[in-house]
Amino acid sequence: MKGAVINLAELRYSEEGRLLFTAEMKEEYKVLVPQMAPFHFDLLVEALIQEGFKAELLDNIGPNLVNEGLKYVHNDSCYPAILVIGQILDAIKNRGYDSHKVAVIITQTGGGCRASNYIHLLRAALKKSGLSHIPVISLNISKLEKNPGFNPSYKFWFKAIWSVVYGDLLMQLYNEVKPYEISDGESDRLVEQWKEQVKYSFQNSSVLNIKALKQNIESLIKDFARIPVADTKLPRVGIVGEIYVKYSSVGNNNLEDYLREENVEIVIPPLMDFLLFKLDYRALEVDWYGGKFIKKFGINLIIRWIEKLRDHSRDLLKKAGFTRPIEFVKLRQLVKGIVSRGNRMGEGWLLTAEMIELIKSGAPNIVCAQPFGCLPNHISGKGVLKTLKDRYPEANIVVIDYDPGASAVNQKNRIKLMLSNINR
Ligand code: SF4
Repeated sequence: MKGAVINLAELRYSEEGRLLFTAEMKEEYKVLVPQMAPFHFDLLVEALIQEGFKAELLDNIGPNLVNEGLKYVHNDSCYPAILVIGQILDAIKNRGYDSHKVAVIITQTGGGCRASNYIHLLRAALKKSGLSHIPVISLNISKLEKNPGFNPSYKFWFKAIWSVVYGDLLMQLYNEVKPYEISDGESDRLVEQWKEQVKYSFQNSSVLNIKALKQNIESLIKDFARIPVADTKLPRVGIVGEIYVKYSSVGNNNLEDYLREENVEIVIPPLMDFLLFKLDYRALEVDWYGGKFIKKFGINLIIRWIEKLRDHSRDLLKKAGFTRPIEFVKLRQLVKGIVSRGNRMGEGWLLTAEMIELIKSGAPNIVCAQPFGCLPNHISGKGVLKTLKDRYPEANIVVIDYDPGASAVNQKNRIKLMLSNINR
């Protein structure tokens, strides 16, 4: 961390005393983005870069992240908060950034869950480390915090949606092809190649050019279908749970690598379903608690539009011999009689629905990854296991808690036990 002199006169604050990210900062500052979903965030960061931000995706990993996080975040706090804040502080302190020329961006869900408050924990951690001059930008769709230097155009939001669509496709195809590829590393190479192609298309074709998007999706699926694969079938193991520990190898102690070493095919539900789940509740709120009809109408329209686009890739995936992901509306129906659609804290009803969908689609072996003490996901994850077992006797689910003190050996032993049930 270089120590330049802070020109306090340059710093501007909101009425409530929050340090603002200004238009001048946009020109000069690097915007650091903590990693969560490796198939998606590369593309999302590219969308930020194309908006004129000097955005950088953090790739620092290792035990230092937890140690750094625990210095500033109480160990009772959510494990993802400890890791995200640990990754940011570790990068700022040890990667040679000029702390007076960096900003940080993190997502803020805006719901009732503690994820809405990670941003405040991060600001407190920066203050404790003497870095309160670093502005923190909230990426949200709830108009929670505004910054004069962060006003992404409509193009950014489209690219953000496309990042999730492409990221989900890459993740699914990689997971379905990788365990069977004859020539080692072909799927990895294709993922990297397609990430570059998507970035190029963000730059060179209109975000509203749906025809080009569909053509890209078709070529992407065809490319993966052409990879020569072995004629075998491995047991399928699903990974569900809290969003950070589900997608981030930092959060789940490299769960995906571990499962692949155990010779199984991994199935990870799409990130887009999580975003639609968050949107869907806002429409439901209008029915339950009142609100403007136009809000509900608009949200349902967006969900339908995204789903229509996904239908295109669903059909192509099926045609090419891959799994056809379930439609969001059907996913929502799966939990009827088990958890309410109003259960929206954390992963809410979506977590239960994803487990049911995995069981029904031939992946009854499931690792439910949850931060220790994550109450909402213990309710819709661990809390529904008995009901799922009664309804679907083939369900073979293990709930694994992740926290700073959890033993990796213990986690692996419990997963091994679940895997041994497959063989039986
Ligand atoms: S879902 Fe769990 S881990 Fe995530 S913010 Fe909520 S309580 Fe914390």
